[in-house]
Amino acid sequence: MSVDHHCPVCRARFRGARVCSRCGADLGPLMGLAARAWRLRQQARQALERGDCVRALGLASDAQHVHRTPNGGSLQLLSAWLHAGRR
Ligand SMILES: [Zn+2]
Repeated sequence: MSVDHHCPVCRARFRGARVCSRCGADLGPLMGLAARAWRLRQQARQALERGDCVRALGLASDAQHVHRTPNGGSLQLLSAWLHAGRR
């Protein structure tokens, strides 16, 4: 899993650290959310592989609500597009 975010307090970049190296903010809760969003996106990809675009769209949207990422946005768009194409 790759985590590459900015500290919510001082905007310093961090990768995988539980405490911000610049301001010492606790990044644990943020990383927990990022990990949860990552798992939802994985499940969305698996749903897409099964051809279940309705479920993929739901999972991708949930992931974006938990933690918004460009990748998640692409996944959400792709799921919505595939879903629309089947109607
Ligand atoms: Zn910080």
